[in-house]
Order: sequence, then C-alpha cells, then structure tokens
Amino acid sequence: MTDVKDSVLVVEDEPQLRRFIRAALDANGYRVIEAGRVSEVVALITSHNPRVVLLDLGLPDGDGIDLTRSLREWTTVPIVVLSARGREEDKVSALDAGADDYLTKPFGMNELLARMRVALRHRPSADEPAVERAYTFGDLAIDIVRREVRLGEDELHLTPIEYKLLLLLARNSGRVLTHQQILRDVWGPAYATRTHYVRVHMAELRKKIERDPARPKLIVTEPGVGYRLRDAR
Ligand code: CA
Repeated sequence: MTDVKDSVLVVEDEPQLRRFIRAALDANGYRVIEAGRVSEVVALITSHNPRVVLLDLGLPDGDGIDLTRSLREWTTVPIVVLSARGREEDKVSALDAGADDYLTKPFGMNELLARMRVALRHRPSADEPAVERAYTFGDLAIDIVRREVRLGEDELHLTPIEYKLLLLLARNSGRVLTHQQILRDVWGPAYATRTHYVRVHMAELRKKIERDPARPKLIVTEPGVGYRLRDAR
C-alpha cells in the first residue's frame, strides 16, 4: 500500500451523520472506511488497519461498549466513542472498556478532529519514542530525567503520589482518564473503589500546579467521569 494518508474507520448506523463525518474527514485529508454494524468491524480493522476508529455506541446488531471490550483483547487501535448517551456512567463504562476518548452528540467537527489528533498521538508507533523525557503545558514544565517540576521559575515540591498523578495525566494529555484508570495506575488494582483518594490528591496537586486552583486551567474535571490534562499542543 502506498497510501500514506491516515485511515479512519467510522462505525455509525445513521447514514446522514456518517455522510457528514465522511465529508469533514475527507476535507481534512483522512481516508475514510465506513461501517454501520458491529458485525462488519473486525473484518474492516484486520483488512484496512485503520489508524483510529470512531465508534457509535447504539448499533443495530450490538453495543459499542461490548465491541470496545472485545477489540481491546487484540488491538490497541485508538477508539473515540461518539454517542448520544450523555450520562456519566455511559462515558465511564466506555472509557473503562478501553475507549480512548468520548464525544457526546451533537459535537462540533473541530472538536472531533482535535480529539482524533490526540488519540493518534498516543498510539505507540515505531517512529515515535514511547516515552518522552520532558513535557511542558503552558508555564508548567516536567523534566522526567531529573524528576523536576517547575511552574515558571519556581521549582515545585510534589509528593511521590502527586508526581505519579501528574506524570500519568501528562502522558495522556488531552485525553480523559476515569477515576478507576487513575486509581489502578497510581495506587494499584486493589484501590479501584477508593475514588476519594483521587479527589483529595488531585486537589493537592492543583494547589501546587495551578495559578488559580479555584479555576483550574491545566487539569480539567470531567464531572462524574474523571480528569483531563488540557493539551495546548
Ligand atoms: Ca446509532
């Protein structure tokens, strides 16, 4: 294959919405593959190897969350869920099932394109180092080699938990992380139900890295779902 354009698999059963998404993706240089049913998805992923999957949850022959869970058994392709279900528990179950991000319908095309770029950036690939040595978000700078965090000129003193939290958010910047994902990663699988840990330590971290912790600009709360470190890139 000589086609270097990023291909996107759009799984959506409403023809009108699918046409709209296709037109916008075409215009932005993506190559679009379409599916309207769960049963078509596995074959299309194995034959076309798309760089990202946009997935509607309510499909005529199955549920997108179950599909996400089964895809995650064999593929790391980024999955961005598009759904009319705006309830927090739906977002959480899609993300916990392995989706990379979640957009509630109706969404703006620019928002979708931005989320796709984030999802694509987080996909490990051969020509991209898996782990970065430093991150900057506005005037917040994280030097992983030296284990130093600075806000402007000031060096910040983070506890080991706060540092782990910040690093997890930085590595996933732009992407929402659920309470469960954060607990699993920072504290370990045994702590999956201790959501208050996340709230407490996130508040402490915000006091240190936000210019105005009451109006956080870096760490955004996704109510009932989790947190996202705003990606300025
Ligand atoms: Ca649908």
